[in-house]
Amino acid sequence: MAKPNKTLTIIGIIFLAIGLTLAIIGFANFFKSLGSDKKPTLFWCSFVGIPVIVAGGVCLSLGLKHKISQHILNQSAPLLSKSIKIAVDAAQNATMVCECGQENAAANAYCTACGKQISIVCGNCNSVLPVHSVYCSHCGNKL
Ligand SMILES: [Zn+2]
Ligand SMILES: [Zn+2]
Repeated sequence: MAKPNKTLTIIGIIFLAIGLTLAIIGFANFFKSLGSDKKPTLFWCSFVGIPVIVAGGVCLSLGLKHKISQHILNQSAPLLSKSIKIAVDAAQNATMVCECGQENAAANAYCTACGKQISIVCGNCNSVLPVHSVYCSHCGNKL
């Protein structure tokens, strides 16, 4: 698998180099001719160069695709799973202290120690909110 990818990458780099050179020659010639009466004789180089750059870019991206996606995956997978774990932990560890002093999970509707209602549900967005909330912290709905 590594061989065709490498070939594509090399072809892509060569195409990019040729295309860039042609485009630069063409544009340099065009801008040079702007100040003088001479016609831009080499401007066609840009028209040839740009498709060559595009072709080179396609080859390069195809050649590097496997490598890059693998790299991104390797880099982001642990980071992603870590941030998911942190978010899950935070959601699970979110607590609400009842008037009786008992600490309850924030998602609990009633206190586990005294049975008092400790949270209400927003009628607009269904968010679980502390029982004395006046406005929903998620949607701003008046409760
Ligand atoms: Zn309680
Ligand atoms: Zn709401």
